[in-house]
Amino acid sequence: MRYIDKYRMHSAAHAINVKFLKDCYADDIHTPLPSPASSKSSYEDFKKPKYRDSVSGWKNLLLEEQKSEGHPRCCYCMRRLNPTASKINYEHIIPRSLSGAEGQEQYAYYSSHAPALHDHVIMADEFEKKSFASTNDIEGEDKMPHITALSNLVVACNGTRDTFNTIGCCCNGNRKDNKILPIMLMEQACTKVKYDQNGILYISCNDGTLSQIIDELNSDTFKEIRSVWYHLSRVSKDISNALSMPMKERIEWFKSAYSTTNFATLKTEVRRYSGFGEKDNADTYWKLLLAYDWFYYYPGYAKQRAKA
Ligand SMILES: [Zn+2]
Repeated sequence: MRYIDKYRMHSAAHAINVKFLKDCYADDIHTPLPSPASSKSSYEDFKKPKYRDSVSGWKNLLLEEQKSEGHPRCCYCMRRLNPTASKINYEHIIPRSLSGAEGQEQYAYYSSHAPALHDHVIMADEFEKKSFASTNDIEGEDKMPHITALSNLVVACNGTRDTFNTIGCCCNGNRKDNKILPIMLMEQACTKVKYDQNGILYISCNDGTLSQIIDELNSDTFKEIRSVWYHLSRVSKDISNALSMPMKERIEWFKSAYSTTNFATLKTEVRRYSGFGEKDNADTYWKLLLAYDWFYYYPGYAKQRAKA
């Protein structure tokens, strides 16, 4: 996990949000359609290709916000997101179904932790109470309804790994409407989220609301992958074209990362991530490993290179 900066591209995000709302209020300035407070139809409309999928649409914007080391990454597990695949989930940080007193209470929690939610987002039922004289008045609104506010939306992978039939995890919307500390919108994420040499994730500011997500992100496969990266990170390498790296080079990399002269002595849970010995050179594990190449650059791991 890492901090997602919702300020960097805010003016573009705000313009998309305003354009959508202006369309909703265009026919009848007093009766927007859909109502910005309708948790279902407002969001469904906002997902239409003309708002989401164009070159300047909000899908690209969210992916750009979550770009790190050259690729957009899942807000939870840091896996590369494939923008052309349908395998991405959009997630509301403040759950979209919230409203009323409960909504206010939860808004106070989220906005006290995440400045971008405080500065750019209002509960949709509160927004709906506003009245405008013309659609141009909407441009003066700084805070967008939480159901469609792009500051309240993040992108996750769908939790299933390409080649493994895994059950869903937090990346797959398993969280539902549970309250979570909005860690990915908090600058502290840079220092409070840590991974150790065994690939275990720790979040030191967890107030209890992140425990389930932390558990899911500490499944065996995740831990294995990150632990392999912890080791591979010791070796300085240009990994931008690692997908086509010859097997010989991969094996040398693993050997030097694990300080051994004999590749065969490495544990299966390590060795298999090189892709060695796979039927038809399928590279299943190699591809899986590389989907998480963010961990090569994760400062807690990369600092080993500086020392070496
Ligand atoms: Zn993920």
